[in-house]
Amino acid sequence: MKVYVIGIGLIGGSMVLDLKDALSNIEIIGIDSSEKNLNEALSLGIIDRIGSMDTIEEADRIILSIPVKESLNLLPELLNRLHSDALLWDVGSTKEQLCKLVSDHPKRDQFLAAHPIAGTEFSGPKAAHRGLFAGKPQILCESNKTRPDLLLWAKQTFRQIGMYIRFMEAKAHDKHMAYVSHLSHISSFMLGKTVLEKEEDENNIFDLAGSGFESTVRLAKSSPAMWAPIFEQNKENVIETLDAYIDNLENFKSLLLKDDYAALFQEMKNTNQLTSILNGISKK
Ligand code: NAP
Repeated sequence: MKVYVIGIGLIGGSMVLDLKDALSNIEIIGIDSSEKNLNEALSLGIIDRIGSMDTIEEADRIILSIPVKESLNLLPELLNRLHSDALLWDVGSTKEQLCKLVSDHPKRDQFLAAHPIAGTEFSGPKAAHRGLFAGKPQILCESNKTRPDLLLWAKQTFRQIGMYIRFMEAKAHDKHMAYVSHLSHISSFMLGKTVLEKEEDENNIFDLAGSGFESTVRLAKSSPAMWAPIFEQNKENVIETLDAYIDNLENFKSLLLKDDYAALFQEMKNTNQLTSILNGISKK
């Protein structure tokens, strides 16, 4: 089986490393706009060879793992060129626009809209590693539009690499991701920005920042090339969530101004319930 991976970074690279372990008789062919990343992926053994769009018709499986704006540009043409038993899935962090774009494509049933809820703040093939997806959810959107035999293969394969499957409508996916993922990234980026602006001495950041600061700004190390198009595609949901977040920040500030420490305490106490919710997630 010839598996083409377009975008040989953290997610595409980690996915094909796991596929190589799980499936026999597969050849991994990499395509990427970065020659450096392709050569690195080859030397790290993530891909078996470097491919090109000229031979994409030979692909039995294609993983589309590039920034979501680029996926919108490439997907229709890729679908046009699939052979009749090939399957293409994307791994992008937004789903509504992509699903809409190909809803009437004659080969829509050879496409699966997927979003693995796994990752790190690092990018590129060096960040790719085995086992990234173990125990993590794979969200499948509008999977009823994918041909049943291809969908079955995909579900079995994702389970083989340790993932569990969740089904969602594309619109709902984007809304929920705005709450639990996209807002966290914005708050981390802007927290990092605020500290950089307020604390002029880098040594103080280095010496005084405890693990709390480090873990809270971890996401601010993420790639803007990946995140800018996600915020663009999910603009409405992100703005709605940001409004709610800004209201909470304003409320916190006003409690401080009023010296209402009992209410401040209660706000934080109420939020502690996240502990049990997140413990539940880590046990899944
Ligand atoms: P990444 O590590 O930066 O890898 C993406 C690779 O694609 C890079 O090598 C990039 O090259 C290349 N690329 C960019 N545009 C291209 C194009 N038009 N054609 C071919 N190659 C292109 O990014 P990633 O974290 O793996 O993210 C890939 C996808 O996974 C994104 O859609 C993202 O939304 C999704 N995702 C990410 C995470 C996460 O935590 N990172 C989690 C779940 C899903 P350059 O470096 O030169 O741009």
